Amino acid sequence: MFSERIADRDTRDLAAKIKVRENQTGDGETERHVLMDKRRGVAGTQIRMVESARCLKQVWCKAMSKLSFLFLVLALAAGQSSRAPILTGPDERYKADMLVVVAHPDDESGDIAGYLARAIYDQHRRVAVIFTSRGEDGDNEAGPEEGNSLGAEREIEGRRAVASFGVTNVWFLGTPNVSSQNVITALERWGHGSVLEQVVRLVRLTRPEVILTWLPAYVAGENHADHQASSVIANEAFDLAGDPTVFSEQLVPDRSGGQSAEGLLPWQPKKIYYFSDASDYPDYGERPPLPSPYRKPFLTGKGPTYSNTDVSPTQHVPYSRLAAQETAFHLTQEGKVGVDALEKNDFKEFERPARLIFGKSLVGGTMTDDVFEGIVPGAVPSARIVARKREKLAAVSLELGGPWNFYGEFWKGHNIEHLAELLPVPEMAIEPGTNYVHVPLLIRNDTATIQEVTITAKLPEGWSDNKTRSSVYQVRPGEVYPVGDRLHLPEIWKPEWQEISWTALFGGQQSGAVILRVYAGANGAMPQ
Ligand SMILES: [Zn+2]
Repeated sequence: MFSERIADRDTRDLAAKIKVRENQTGDGETERHVLMDKRRGVAGTQIRMVESARCLKQVWCKAMSKLSFLFLVLALAAGQSSRAPILTGPDERYKADMLVVVAHPDDESGDIAGYLARAIYDQHRRVAVIFTSRGEDGDNEAGPEEGNSLGAEREIEGRRAVASFGVTNVWFLGTPNVSSQNVITALERWGHGSVLEQVVRLVRLTRPEVILTWLPAYVAGENHADHQASSVIANEAFDLAGDPTVFSEQLVPDRSGGQSAEGLLPWQPKKIYYFSDASDYPDYGERPPLPSPYRKPFLTGKGPTYSNTDVSPTQHVPYSRLAAQETAFHLTQEGKVGVDALEKNDFKEFERPARLIFGKSLVGGTMTDDVFEGIVPGAVPSARIVARKREKLAAVSLELGGPWNFYGEFWKGHNIEHLAELLPVPEMAIEPGTNYVHVPLLIRNDTATIQEVTITAKLPEGWSDNKTRSSVYQVRPGEVYPVGDRLHLPEIWKPEWQEISWTALFGGQQSGAVILRVYAGANGAMPQ
């Protein structure tokens, strides 16, 4: 008599087919085979039991049969508890200590390149870089190529420049170049959510301890919309990449096969730092801008500063020289400054220190500590964004709109409120020869009745505005009324600082003044 039973067992990590054959001969001889077929490469087990006994009595035969069944159960149990395979961990080739998130190839050059050289060569940090854009809208100092052809060149320049420091984990996200000062315009043109999704993915892939990006603020000198947009997205990714409910399709709900997720894990970076193009230091380039008469340089003491005249202990040259070497790859941009410095063996242009600005830390420390102070390997819990209440404002208030208003909310929403203290009075820069400035203002009515609000601007001599035609506004209860004030000014070619203020009059009361400082005739300022 011949009988065959087949039992299939599937577990998440182990599929085992157990085949039991029972071959019982007519004279009472029994043979059992238990075959375990492990499909997923685990060390297989093959158990073969051969029982051969001549039963002298039926009772003895039954007892032996029960014993055999016990062996079979034990064998099955052994099959169930076989060790599951060790999962493959995240790919270490992409692990970064620092992820640099910038807008254009060459944003990483100059004095920041000196700091990156220090971090890579002498602190042995792994660095990865995201360039959101190829910078196709820039000028070309090296050849006739423009537009997308220039973008194609700048991508290679960027890759070669950071590769000279050994950095090869570099991504370009293909956002369009937006030549504006308005971060909101850049975020809208980029497709904000799509770029954020890509940066969150790369944070989860590279698992950086630290993110270094542009300063998320609108100040004279630092006014490229692309720079600011790359920073906004880097800050958002810092807060979101550790949250498994965000872009969950990138994660690992089930690795048993047949699913479409991307296999990443959430990752919470530990610190974020910024750098800025703010051009108000006397050591800024060959033509240092006119210092503001209203304030001192605002980056001093707001984060760690790294000297570029120090000599690298491993490279035996100053960091200024290493920065010049890296910058020299960007020939379509200001690479010639690096080439000249190398030819003349004069690195003054690269000697100003890298002044970083502290953003936030989940591992303690002070504002001016070294970037990696307090960081130990391993994961930290996802950062929580503190729920915030809208501040109680005066009955009727006047404030700047546009990017200024955006940043006021953004800083609070990402626990970087201290950035509001960098420049308590907002400012902007305009190109030489600019003859108008658009200033967005918001009137907010927090009273229970409609309010008639009169706006009055105090302008520098020779300036005028368009608001006199409609300077009285009817603002309903709870309403925020946007007012665009277009200021006309004489063309200014020689740099100068001016201060403008607005006040709101309502029901016999006057609001506090809104002040904006304008650095006019600023070389390099973006169009508004
Ligand atoms: Zn740039």
